[in-house]
Amino acid sequence: QCVAVCPTGALSEVDNTRKVIASLVDPSKTVIVQTAPAVRAALGEEFDMEPGTLVTGKMTSALKKLGFDKVFDTDFAADLTIMEEGTELLGRLQKHLAGDKDVKLPILTSCCPGWVNFFESNFPDMLDVPSTAKSPQQMFGAVAKTYLADQMGIKREDMIVVSVMPCVAKKYESGRPEFAVDGNPDVDFSITTRELAQMIKGANINFDDLTDEEFDNPMGESTGAAVIFANTGGVIEAAVRTAYEVQTKKKLEKVDFEELRGFEGIRSATVDFDGLPIKIGIAHGLGNARKLLEDVQAGKSEFHAIEIMACPGGCIGGAGQPYHHGDTTILKKRAEAIYREDEGKEIRKSHENPFIVKLYEEFLGEPCGELSHKLLHTHYFDKKKKVEINND
Ligand code: SF4
Repeated sequence: QCVAVCPTGALSEVDNTRKVIASLVDPSKTVIVQTAPAVRAALGEEFDMEPGTLVTGKMTSALKKLGFDKVFDTDFAADLTIMEEGTELLGRLQKHLAGDKDVKLPILTSCCPGWVNFFESNFPDMLDVPSTAKSPQQMFGAVAKTYLADQMGIKREDMIVVSVMPCVAKKYESGRPEFAVDGNPDVDFSITTRELAQMIKGANINFDDLTDEEFDNPMGESTGAAVIFANTGGVIEAAVRTAYEVQTKKKLEKVDFEELRGFEGIRSATVDFDGLPIKIGIAHGLGNARKLLEDVQAGKSEFHAIEIMACPGGCIGGAGQPYHHGDTTILKKRAEAIYREDEGKEIRKSHENPFIVKLYEEFLGEPCGELSHKLLHTHYFDKKKKVEINND
């Protein structure tokens, strides 16, 4: 077993590739895979390509050659996350504007399990502050094993969901008991970008020679807003693109929010929602997150929304990515590649993803509705006691 240390400091890496391969050769299982946004901007480095080379099509092709029955995109679920988290943000904001003193603001993003683990362990008095939206990885699994399994006519227990993540903490996240139904997890196995590269090499696939292939549908379609989840500031930029249009009922003329981008550890910006100033904070790296959190705890924070990612640069710098040895020029090239992918997308706002619209029409009903709450939202735990015991 391969064991490596996660920079979040609390989690360790377990290699699941053997279990994935065993599932792929099991004829009783339908094995589907989702790939996180950051993977496509870094996987090429494992095959001696320049940092910042986008390999979305080759990655899809390699996954099909490895034998996955369907190759989907976590970006689809990132669009879904925006629908849920954005609705939650606007709901809290409207209550706040109506004078509700009990409403919790700022809302904190919740898609990074390294960060979730950190606040559960260090700020257990603030468990009602973060968004309750599950991460894209977990939303994907929950929808795949209900809506998709139904569409494909297969039983939940016969579907294996694999995720390829830039992240070590996602392995721990997929194993959290609340993300399972009767012991059957929504996401069966989470592997890293590096582990996918090992699988491709192990299968003797010549990555350079692969021709680009498309993701399968319905869970392979995504927008530019979903792709930028990979970069620090990207989740909140994606949320703003949707929340602005929903709140103001006006079309956003310029979808690029340069003021939310960059590499400084803590950033802030005010976005004008047609006369309503929305104050946004961004932190990457848990030391920076702690500073923003201490302000929230002390009641001194002026933000309406805060995005926090545990890894430097966000998921492009995740512990499961090809090693970059702290070289920020590599991280910047990956980030630029992600913004290029966003710019190249025909649709760049999550609420305009036609497959997301269809998912709500056919299955979920409405964002933050009853079924969404059941499948796409979660709750948090006080882990401080456990951490104290572990530290004794
Ligand atoms: Fe995982 Fe790091 Fe991304 Fe958080 S920021 S989801 S720990 S890769």
